[in-house]
Amino acid sequence: MTDNLPFTIDWVVDIDLPGVKKYKAARGTNIDCPFCKEDGDKKGKEKLNYNDSNGKWRCARCNNAGNSVILHSKLTGLGYNEALADLMKRWNGLPSDVKIKLSSREKGGPEYVPPHTFLLNTAYTSLLDQLTLSDKHRKDLRVRGLSDEDIKAFGYKTYPKVGMSTFARNAIVKTGVAQAMLRYEENEHFSSDQHCQIPGFFDFGNDVRMVRRQSSFFVPVRNIDGTIDRFQLRHDIKPTASYEDKKKYTSWSSGEKETGCSVTGTSNIHWVGFPESEDYRSDEYRTPEQVELTEGALKGDIAHTLSDRHWAFICLLGVSNYGQLSQALEYLKKHGTKRINICFDMDYLVNSNVQSSLDKVKRMITDAGLSWEWIKWDPKYKGVDDWLLARKKFIEAKKSGE
Ligand SMILES: [Zn+2]
Repeated sequence: MTDNLPFTIDWVVDIDLPGVKKYKAARGTNIDCPFCKEDGDKKGKEKLNYNDSNGKWRCARCNNAGNSVILHSKLTGLGYNEALADLMKRWNGLPSDVKIKLSSREKGGPEYVPPHTFLLNTAYTSLLDQLTLSDKHRKDLRVRGLSDEDIKAFGYKTYPKVGMSTFARNAIVKTGVAQAMLRYEENEHFSSDQHCQIPGFFDFGNDVRMVRRQSSFFVPVRNIDGTIDRFQLRHDIKPTASYEDKKKYTSWSSGEKETGCSVTGTSNIHWVGFPESEDYRSDEYRTPEQVELTEGALKGDIAHTLSDRHWAFICLLGVSNYGQLSQALEYLKKHGTKRINICFDMDYLVNSNVQSSLDKVKRMITDAGLSWEWIKWDPKYKGVDDWLLARKKFIEAKKSGE
């Protein structure tokens, strides 16, 4: 959500409007607006103002506005993500102001940290494109209330059993992510004993591989703009290896490998159901007045779908995993949300972990200046998705009985 762009608007102006005359303004720079300019019309002159100190531009006449990526998008006709990718390719370097929390590793060895969201998304999207979904997993997802179109759109894919180096090479080397990571490492904020790596993958000699896991499927954890920052794995049986903490859902990481990388520093909130926009950072972008809060990316996807896509969800990855929640709540508050509806599993009645998380989350919501409501339902349905599915079936049965 933060604008971590490495380039300035001025740099983009030079690419898209070479030779354009720049006029010094009280704040920033003025140029002739390329959107509302009419030949010989003096009113159209010098109306587009941009300011590299806040990264924004606006034309006072035609009201076109945004950040540097939107300027490039509007002038080239590329979509937002394509425009960003194009600019990153032209930029001879990578973000210098990305805040990365370093994970602790054993002394002496190199530290591997994840790169910018843009590179994570590129590698992870490419990986999903190469994988398929097994019939068993498709059937399981249908039972939970998703159609084949939903399943395809959310991007769930079965964990492969073979091809660990091919998938990794295609996702990391062929996409150009490996080269970009090298440039990224050369960047100032990496010390000589740190290396850039993508969680789930690891260096293997001169090659790259993805880690092996027991049978499971990938659940993409998405940012508000749909980009993928990490994966949750939904295990068919609870994993036995100690590093996976024996949970049904785990974040996909290669932290146990000497040349692998933990997920520390990547997003741990999943967003689903928010209005599409060219620019989620702009002050004009509006989030829904009410937003649902639950736990688990897959649960959020399913519940959003079963609410007839009316409810937007932010999903914690684990009930007590709320390290980035305050930041998310602040963002929602700033963009128009007034209330958070807490949809935690109904096992709070027996689960003391859920109950203490609930108290903590309520406080965080209040501290962010938002109101909250605790949504409860018949406890025979554990999750908000189970409850919505039962409700949907009830309504359908009633309809067909009429
Ligand atoms: Zn204009």
